Amino acid sequence: MKYIIIGVVLLCALAWGGIANRHSIVIQLMSSGQPPPLNAATDEGADTVWFNDYFTVQALDERTFAIGEPRYAQQNYSYLIVGSERAVLFDAGPGFRNIREVAESLTDLPITFVPSHFHYDHTGNEITFDQVAVVDLPYIRARAVDNQLTLSGPEHLGVAEGVAAPTLSINEWLAPGAMMFLGDRQLQVLYTPGHTDDSISLLDLTSGFLFSGDFVYPGPLYAFLSNSNMGDYLAGAETVISQQSLVTEIYGAHRVRPPGAPKLGIEDVQDLRKTLLNIRAGAASAKGVYPRQYIVNERMILLAEPEFLQAWQSTNRE
Ligand SMILES: [Zn+2]
Repeated sequence: MKYIIIGVVLLCALAWGGIANRHSIVIQLMSSGQPPPLNAATDEGADTVWFNDYFTVQALDERTFAIGEPRYAQQNYSYLIVGSERAVLFDAGPGFRNIREVAESLTDLPITFVPSHFHYDHTGNEITFDQVAVVDLPYIRARAVDNQLTLSGPEHLGVAEGVAAPTLSINEWLAPGAMMFLGDRQLQVLYTPGHTDDSISLLDLTSGFLFSGDFVYPGPLYAFLSNSNMGDYLAGAETVISQQSLVTEIYGAHRVRPPGAPKLGIEDVQDLRKTLLNIRAGAASAKGVYPRQYIVNERMILLAEPEFLQAWQSTNRE
């Protein structure tokens, strides 16, 4: 009897250890530890030009450019948003190639780099910028001694492709809801957590374009990572919907297939919100064990943890 009790206790301890460490176990399983092989170059349509053998540039309007990495396995898109006094580069890809050259070919104005969140495939890593602006959340600012922010392993995840976590030299802090002034153009910072607790989107009040990072894009949305949270995802969707009269088009940070930049509309965020509410109510069907796959609509799938591990209490990091 004694051994049965010890065995049960041991099994419970192992199970608990596995649950507590599940995110690092998942990352290990998803990791190759090195940059993935490049995709073949694709036909990107008439709107897009190849900058070199790796990057593409697509003008969304005269002063807004989608810079694509369609040959990178995760097919990242970053956005250069140019005002009259300065430009913003929203995301910088994984840094395997130098996106700064592309951005500087498109404007002579000073460029401020803004990561949508701190995952390695957005932070540029070895690519550095003279001006860096990041989300202003108390737990992040508290870590940034002299405005130097060294990213942690769980928030950066660079181990997946052998990328060391960088230290960002921050010049500007972006409070949720604040405006970024680019001269004659203003971007509103929307706090859109869920995928991670440090995710922001930028809303261009001139064009109505919403640049959404990994919060939404056409494809599988990752809501099961180390700092993902389902309650946050719902709160982020509600924040975007609260501004929906201002949003014309949504541009995300990844796509699944060509051609061109990944584009969605506000109805996709409304569908995401409905899906999240259904999941929370226990009324959504899903496939798979880990992650669970919830179909949002014909453009998006939400990948989440099994129901008993889903966190619906918003982390409320603001
Ligand atoms: Zn991400």
